[in-house]
Amino acid sequence: MTRASVVKLEDVWVSFHETLALKAVNMDIEDGEFLGLIGPNGSGKTTLIRVILGLVKPDRGRVEVFGVPPDSLGAKHHIIGYVPQRSHGDWSFPVSVTDVVMMGRYGRIGLFKRPSSLDREVAVKALEDVQMQDFAQRQLAELSGGQQQRVLIARALATEPKLLLLDEPAAGIDAYGEERFYELLKRLKEEQGLTIVVVTHDIAVVSAHVEKLACLNQTLYTHAPPSEVITAGTLEKVYGCEVELLAHGRIPHRVVEEHK
Ligand code: ADP
Ligand code: MG
Repeated sequence: MTRASVVKLEDVWVSFHETLALKAVNMDIEDGEFLGLIGPNGSGKTTLIRVILGLVKPDRGRVEVFGVPPDSLGAKHHIIGYVPQRSHGDWSFPVSVTDVVMMGRYGRIGLFKRPSSLDREVAVKALEDVQMQDFAQRQLAELSGGQQQRVLIARALATEPKLLLLDEPAAGIDAYGEERFYELLKRLKEEQGLTIVVVTHDIAVVSAHVEKLACLNQTLYTHAPPSEVITAGTLEKVYGCEVELLAHGRIPHRVVEEHK
């Protein structure tokens, strides 16, 4: 039985002025997938996520999320949860952890309405899901990078999404924290039946956790289990000589030869 399509991109092209960001991207993400999206800096990863969110309109091509163009999702838009790239935001403003998570509810309740007891319950549950309930009254700015990241995931979960998009969520988290972070994603996926796309630079760590890996460098090279991607020579095409350590864990180590 084939699984329902959650995201479908056909021949998607995006450019910003003279810069080509995405070129002829085709992509199919099925219900329940846990996909790692890797690629070097400037390869279009954030742009691709923003296309799925409907925040960037392609110059050409078709985008469908849950069977409709993302800007037709309307009131159902909250079924996409989004954790933006942290380096793109300012997280030093004075706001409590609870306030941040409640922001995830405003898509449903409207900005100027008061949150109901259900909204509060969902927010508390989202903090419990990421094991941050003890920090509810703390200021976001006081937390470590890893803790802030979990709060941002709680905010995305508070929208009660079916699809969770995370843009470089592990940046600034140490290796131990990163392992735990992927364990958390895996648990959320299983408990809540989420489809998850996680954008990262870190091929080594992500390969050990996701079911599928897609490599982006303007165009999308492969979308397959990590072991297949890593042996297919795809990474060399995508990264050129940047890659040294490719993978660990259940995937064989391999080192790209030095380029002259
Ligand atoms: P990544 O997330 O993989 O680092 P991005 O999607 O952020 O890559 O960027 C891809 C390319 O598009 C880069 O060359 C970047 O400079 C350019 N770009 C992205 N967003 C914009 C924008 N809003 N205006 C102009 N250029 C952009
Ligand atoms: Mg990016």
